[in-house]
Amino acid sequence: MTDSIRDFIGEADAASLAGAWAAAGFAPLRRAAGELVGPCPACGGEDRFSIAEGKRAWNCRGAGGGHSPVGMIAHCLGYDASRREDLLRAAEIVLGRDRPGAAETEAERLAREQAAAVRRRKAEAAARARASEADAFRERERAKARGIWQRACPIDGADPASAYLEARLGIFPLAAAWHLRFDPEITYWHGTDEFGRPLALHAGPAMIAAILCDPMRDADGDNVIGCHITWIDLDRPPKCRPLLHARSGAGGGDGDALATKKMRGTKKGGIIPVLGDPARDLWIGGEGIENGIAAWLLTGKPDAFVFAAGDLGNLAGPAAAHGRVKNPETGKWIPSPWPREDHGPREDHGPREGQGPGDAMPVADGVREIVLLGDADSDPAATAAQMLRAQRRIERPGRVVQLSWPALGMDWAQMAGRSE
Ligand SMILES: [Zn+2]
Repeated sequence: MTDSIRDFIGEADAASLAGAWAAAGFAPLRRAAGELVGPCPACGGEDRFSIAEGKRAWNCRGAGGGHSPVGMIAHCLGYDASRREDLLRAAEIVLGRDRPGAAETEAERLAREQAAAVRRRKAEAAARARASEADAFRERERAKARGIWQRACPIDGADPASAYLEARLGIFPLAAAWHLRFDPEITYWHGTDEFGRPLALHAGPAMIAAILCDPMRDADGDNVIGCHITWIDLDRPPKCRPLLHARSGAGGGDGDALATKKMRGTKKGGIIPVLGDPARDLWIGGEGIENGIAAWLLTGKPDAFVFAAGDLGNLAGPAAAHGRVKNPETGKWIPSPWPREDHGPREDHGPREGQGPGDAMPVADGVREIVLLGDADSDPAATAAQMLRAQRRIERPGRVVQLSWPALGMDWAQMAGRSE
């Protein structure tokens, strides 16, 4: 190998990985958890390939990785990096010019550029196909959730959902509960039978709530992105929910009890209106529907709007890469109490960059006071970190965001003194 060739490869090896990726014409990677992630041009997958620019490292979960942009390009194009010709071709792609001493003819340059253009078009077409497939799947799920919501009936005080909330909480604020609906009999699907068909495990009454993209708009059309279903069994106090077990094999019924709440469609980026008017100054809510109503009963502020986020992740939003700690008691990671950088409060009240619909539960601009309800029944350290992150995500000048917890060992319904 001549000195000039050695220098040429050395220069290519010193190039940036992200720059080499772009020079090769591969479809852009997306940023996730501080890395660039996407399908591997050689091996496919969804997130098989990653570049950690900070560590100057690339990795393909199918084939391994390294630090060299030349090695990366060789892998992605199926070159054999131990062959001199392949190595030089990869280095040429990284640097976007020919090896020294081997002036490319016009025809060769055109062929190289065309090959890069073909790769780019192929990668882009594959990325588009994947994205539209994912969009179509998400849209089908949303349409199903919308159908469940549209079929459900408004509650009127003499229905299973009203009876359920009254049994759980003692009183039932019917006048404020226009957001909630019920279905007298809805199927609980779980698993598949021996022919791969969905299995109807249970059918019974359920409380139905809509998951909305924008709480200030009506619960219809594309504002409904999902629905929340709570199956009810009034004969099973105090929780009044059916006991469901997965069917194993022919006629089993063993294993852990299944969740009797389900969300269909999309919950991330959505909000579940529970009680009252979202145009109010004061909002109260947490993960679940029942806790929100119980805390609302406790606070005695009938003017408040009660919401549910569906889960803690949707309330807290994406986490910063820093600030994770390991719980010395459990050895598990506690998620960061800090919002991802572009999710923090902004002084100008403008929409936060990177926090589009879809990232976390939305809060209407005019809300001056928010009480976020903690839940004591899960891992307390992780819950506390996420509640803090939720608070930091949605607080801003002119708005007070308060965290509120039930007494140790109790949930909000017990605090309200309504449930055993
Ligand atoms: Zn690969």
